[in-house]
Amino acid sequence: MRIGRAAGVTDTGRRRLRNEDAFVCEPPLFAVTDGMGGARAGQLAAELAATALEEGASAIDGVDALVHTVEEANRRIWERSVSDPETTGMGAVATVALVRDGTVAIGHVGDSRAYLIRGGAIEQLTRDHSLVAELVESGVLTPEEAEHHPQRSAITRALGTEPAVEVDVRTVAGEPGDVFLLCSDGLSSMVPDDEVVARVEATGRDPERAAEALVAAANARGGEDNITVVIFELVGDAEAEEEEPPPPEDTQPDLASSDGSPDEPVQDGAEPQPPAVDTVAAPVDTTHHGAGAGGRIAAIALLAALLVLAVLALYAGITR
Ligand code: MN
Repeated sequence: MRIGRAAGVTDTGRRRLRNEDAFVCEPPLFAVTDGMGGARAGQLAAELAATALEEGASAIDGVDALVHTVEEANRRIWERSVSDPETTGMGAVATVALVRDGTVAIGHVGDSRAYLIRGGAIEQLTRDHSLVAELVESGVLTPEEAEHHPQRSAITRALGTEPAVEVDVRTVAGEPGDVFLLCSDGLSSMVPDDEVVARVEATGRDPERAAEALVAAANARGGEDNITVVIFELVGDAEAEEEEPPPPEDTQPDLASSDGSPDEPVQDGAEPQPPAVDTVAAPVDTTHHGAGAGGRIAAIALLAALLVLAVLALYAGITR
């Protein structure tokens, strides 16, 4: 059994000004990361995590090495955040999958997810490290209530927010025809699981078309967060030899330079959105995705600048 086609897509969505997700689609390693922190720190954290995972991939020969690689990602973000005051408190969630000898090892921290689509059914392979997931597990919330809970983006575990991190791992014995899907919460919070599997099947399980269809579906439902999807399939050995390699432009990791790269253009018509509420009335440590205070200040500054421009334009019109 071998890895067949694979693709990764990331999209800013319709509400955020920046894309703070990143991904790796470098068979046999696949990962999604989703950063958080003020200003550009979330983007930096996601990129640090993705780079650490990508660089560690060749040395990963088992579950222990997979854990060590995720721990290395944690260490890099943590050390940067304590040495660079502009990045204090940044972090990232990550879900990584490594395929070896037909076995898929999943490493996971946070609320990005891994799914397996097999025989037309979808199974979530990771457990969210989130406030609402804990409340569902303890019976306080129903899964339906959790879907619409105002604190659903509050996470309880992340890379880089502490000097050490606990990494969840599991392995899955792959079967030919399996489709594995990694995604950030910008997909899973917008598109229900049954629609995810329906859209993957509707594209004939073509990873590239499926990933694009899922991003489109999340945007059609509001696109409230950055959306990242990585999909790969497992095929029988004979089948794999007949497959063409995936097109290179869609298999490159989304690892734009974190230093000196120009600001992303703001989407036409997109308005700065306030981040989710930052306070949590619950007895657990939580951290939020999103722009945080820095993003809010930037949004207010942008609105103020637009107001000043409008007044100046009006004044110029009157005095002419
Ligand atoms: Mn997110």
